[in-house]
Amino acid sequence: MRAGLCRPLPHPIFQAEHRGPPLKSSGHNPTPKRVVVKLGTGVLTSGIGELNAERIAAVCSEIAALRARGTEVIVVSSGAVGLGMGRLRLAKKPKDISKKQACAAVGQSLLMQTWQEGFAPHRLTVAQVLLTHDDLRIRSRYLSVQETLRQLIGYGTIPIINENDTVSAAEIHAMLKFGDNDTLSAMVASLTGAQYLIILSTAPGLIDFKGSGNIVPVVERITPEIESMAGGTTSETATGGMISKIAAAKLATKSGCGVFIASGAEPEIIAKLLCGRGPGTFFVPSGLPLEARKHWLAYFQRPAGTLLVNANAVPVLREQGRSLLAVGVTGARGEFAAGDIVNLAGPDGIAFARGKVAFGSEEIPSLAGKKGDAVAELYPSRRRLEVIHRNDLVLL
Ligand code: GLU
Repeated sequence: MRAGLCRPLPHPIFQAEHRGPPLKSSGHNPTPKRVVVKLGTGVLTSGIGELNAERIAAVCSEIAALRARGTEVIVVSSGAVGLGMGRLRLAKKPKDISKKQACAAVGQSLLMQTWQEGFAPHRLTVAQVLLTHDDLRIRSRYLSVQETLRQLIGYGTIPIINENDTVSAAEIHAMLKFGDNDTLSAMVASLTGAQYLIILSTAPGLIDFKGSGNIVPVVERITPEIESMAGGTTSETATGGMISKIAAAKLATKSGCGVFIASGAEPEIIAKLLCGRGPGTFFVPSGLPLEARKHWLAYFQRPAGTLLVNANAVPVLREQGRSLLAVGVTGARGEFAAGDIVNLAGPDGIAFARGKVAFGSEEIPSLAGKKGDAVAELYPSRRRLEVIHRNDLVLL
């Protein structure tokens, strides 16, 4: 591991950019304005589909304590499929999509009942929010989800979010599923402007398998080396594994949200993490959050294709924040229409930016490499000739 990549505990949040109320420098009782807590199936259940009542009661008390200190909490809860499997007495996760959907339908109501009962002693009301990828990809729906969550928090409820598995499992082939609740939780953290995303699972954090074998306490930047430390999931009910947790951390940190990955079995883990006492891994949020619309462009859309640009265009886009003009374009991969979101790749073929393209893929060959006058001749009635306007372009 490169020197300086990770820092020992006690660390983290006091060094990271913090967007909530000031943290006490003593490191105790910090009160961020908003946090998203994501719980994996393995935290909520023991064995297949059996609720871990003690664990759930402990998590509810922790969240209630946070709330009492003025922190708004949004929960992203897995467990629907696992609980459904338990209730339907299935020992293995079914491969068949409709069977998985049926498990989720059975389990989701059990899951909500569990959360409501867990929060009842604290006089907190829960609100079920089920989302599909489309709900965050289509801007009007995204805005409405954002507004509803705002209202739910305003009413003092605890939103409990899960993927709408009964609908979205069928969308797998259309590539419209979140795939795992880690990704969903990162998107929720970013759309709600949360300061922290706390991902609790059976994993104690990111383990440096190749090196020390210990938990990596702080990750300042998600490098390929960090990514290589993740292994896939092995459990019967779990979905994402460390790979999807790191991908989620990447997404959330880019929008200025600090991410913790820690064990849900550790007593009082949320309070410990927020006081910088671990154990777990903290991913430091990067810079300032992207302006909201660009952010939506970058992370909530699936690119329809790729625009290839020449070596001269790369620094102009990367460093000078300019629009992409036809002269810099060399070609296109995939089929896309004007208004679609596309990746931008330089001669090395690696995507470095994403944007809303003003021309369809079939128009690109005739535009590519042309100077302004030649493009104007091709499109005499068009006022705007940028292939991607800088306001519609974001670096990855
Ligand atoms: N939505 C799934 C469920 O509630 C879980 C997906 C995941 O754990 O990532 O069972």
